[in-house]
Amino acid sequence: MQLPPGVSQERFNEATSRFARVVGPEWVFTSDEDIDLYRDVNTPFMGEEDLEYIPSGAIAPKSVEEVQEIVRIANEFLIPLWPISTGRNLAYGGAAPRLTGTMVLDLKRMNRVLEVNEKLAYVLVEPGVSYFDFYRYLRANNLKVWLDCPDPGWGSLIGNALDHGVGHTPFRDHFGSHCGMEVVLPNGELIRTGPGAIPNSPSWNTFKYGFGPHISPMFGQSNFGIVTKMGFWLLPEQQAARDCVVQVPLYENVTPFLEIMAHLVCSSIIDGSWQIERSIRQSQDPDIRAALEKGVSNEELGQIGAKKGIAYWWTRLHFYGPPGVIDAKYAYVREKFAAIPGTTITLGGDYRFPLDPDTVDNSEDLFAKASLGIPELAIFSLTAQARAAQSLRGQAGFSPVIPATGPELMRAHRDFTEAFRELGLGAPTLDVVWSWFDRSLVMLMGMITGDDPQANKIKRENFKRLIAIAGENGWGAYRTAPLFMDEVMAVHSFNNHALRRFHETVKDALDPNGILAPGKSGIWPKRLRKS
Ligand code: ADP
Repeated sequence: MQLPPGVSQERFNEATSRFARVVGPEWVFTSDEDIDLYRDVNTPFMGEEDLEYIPSGAIAPKSVEEVQEIVRIANEFLIPLWPISTGRNLAYGGAAPRLTGTMVLDLKRMNRVLEVNEKLAYVLVEPGVSYFDFYRYLRANNLKVWLDCPDPGWGSLIGNALDHGVGHTPFRDHFGSHCGMEVVLPNGELIRTGPGAIPNSPSWNTFKYGFGPHISPMFGQSNFGIVTKMGFWLLPEQQAARDCVVQVPLYENVTPFLEIMAHLVCSSIIDGSWQIERSIRQSQDPDIRAALEKGVSNEELGQIGAKKGIAYWWTRLHFYGPPGVIDAKYAYVREKFAAIPGTTITLGGDYRFPLDPDTVDNSEDLFAKASLGIPELAIFSLTAQARAAQSLRGQAGFSPVIPATGPELMRAHRDFTEAFRELGLGAPTLDVVWSWFDRSLVMLMGMITGDDPQANKIKRENFKRLIAIAGENGWGAYRTAPLFMDEVMAVHSFNNHALRRFHETVKDALDPNGILAPGKSGIWPKRLRKS
C-alpha cells in the first residue's frame, strides 16, 4: 500500500472510513488486489514498482452529492484524488495517477444518459457512460443520431473528451464537440458552465458560450475540477456515407497533395478523419524492399515506385450526407486531385442508412465501423495481440501535432528520422499521420516496452529526448501519459513558462490544498511544487 505523501497510515485509515460512510464500504477499495485494477497495465515501469505511479486506493461514488462530500473530506485529510470516468486511457497512462499515493476517484457508477435531443442532435451524459453503452441506448430507443467514437469503444464520452481524444466522423474532435459542463470544484462547490448557470436553462447543451468568460475548456486535460455532467453535439443519422482511397505517386507530391487537402478541409468538403500514409514503405515488391534496405532517399524511392506503378502516398477520404451531396463532393475531389499527374482514386465503401452494423465488417478497412460511429475493439485488439506475441506489454503514445502542410511534414520526417538515428532507435514509426484535428496532422509514435528495466529506462529517456526535440521545432503533443506530462508542459516555455505559471496561479486559487490530480498536465499544486 502506497500512502499519499505526508499522510500517516492512521490518518489515511480515518479518511477512508469517512469516505466509506459517504459511498458505502463496498465502494472504497484499498486492498492490493483492487488497487492493481487501477494501475497502468501498459506501464513503462514494469518490474520497477518503486518508480511506478501507484494509487493508494479508489472510491466509486454514485452521485454528485457524494463527489462533493468526498472532495470535502479529501481537503480535510489532504488526500489527493485522481478522477477517472472509465479509466481506459490506454497508452496514455490508463487509470493510474501522476503521483503515487493519490486515490482514484472512479466515476463509473455515475452512468446515466440524461437527455438525448434528436432534433437538435445533442446528448447530456454522466462520466460512466461508455461508447458501447451509449450506442446500445441509441439503438434500443431507435434514436436517429450518431455518436462519434475513438478506435476502442470501451472508453467513455466524458473521459475521452477531457483528454482531448478523437474519433472519425465530423464530430471527431470530442472536446471541441462538447457543449456545457457540470463541475465539482476542488473545494466541493458545484458549477455549471455557459447557459447552464441559468437555473433550468434549455440552452445549456445548445449554446456554448453563455455570458462572460467561456470557462469549460479549462477543465480539459486539467486538474481544476471533476466533471460530473457534459453535453455533446451529435451527427443526425445520415442518409449515406462513402469512402475512397487516393494514391499519389511521388514523395515530392506531398506539398500539392496537402494543399488540396487543406482546401477540401477548410471548405468543409471533407469533414471526417483522414490519414496520410507512406504506403510505399509497406510494399512487398522486391525492388522497393531492396531500395529501403539500401536506404535510398524518399525522392528516389518515389521514382522507383513510379516505374512500377506503386504510389508513395495513400489516404482514405470519407463523405457523409444525402447521396446527391456525396456525388457532388466526390466529383469535386476527383477534379482537384486531377492536378497531380498519376494520382488514382478508388471507390471504397458505399453505405445507405439505416444499415445492419454486421454488414460493415471489412478486413481491408479496420476503421470502417468507427467511421460510421459504431464502436468496436478490432483495431485495439490487433495492436494488443501484436504486442502480446512479443511479450511486450508496455505502451505509451507520443503524439506531436504539426501544421498540415507538405514542407512541415517533410521537415518532421527529416528531423525525427535523424533524431531516431542519433538515439539508436532505428527507423521512426512515422509512416501514418492522422488528421484528427482540422488544419493539423498528428504524428503518432508508440513507445513499446517490456519487462527489462534497463531497456525500459533507456526508452523512457529517449522518449523524453524526442519530446524536447519536437519542442525545439515548435511541436507539442496533443496528449501524453502522466510519465511525460512535466516534459510536454516544459516545452510550452514562451516568456519564461508564462503559461505554466498561469496554470499554477489558477490551481492555487481553486485548489489551495492541492488535492485534485497533482501533476496532471505538469500542473502541480503549491505544496507539491518543486522550486
Ligand atoms: P476513458 O473513460 O475514455 O477511459 P479515462 O477515465 O481514462 O477515460 O479519463 C482520461 C483522463 O481524463 C483521466 O486520466 C483523467 O485525468 C481525466 N478525467 C476523466 N474523467 C474525468 C472527470 N470526470 N473529471 C475530470 N477529469 C477526468
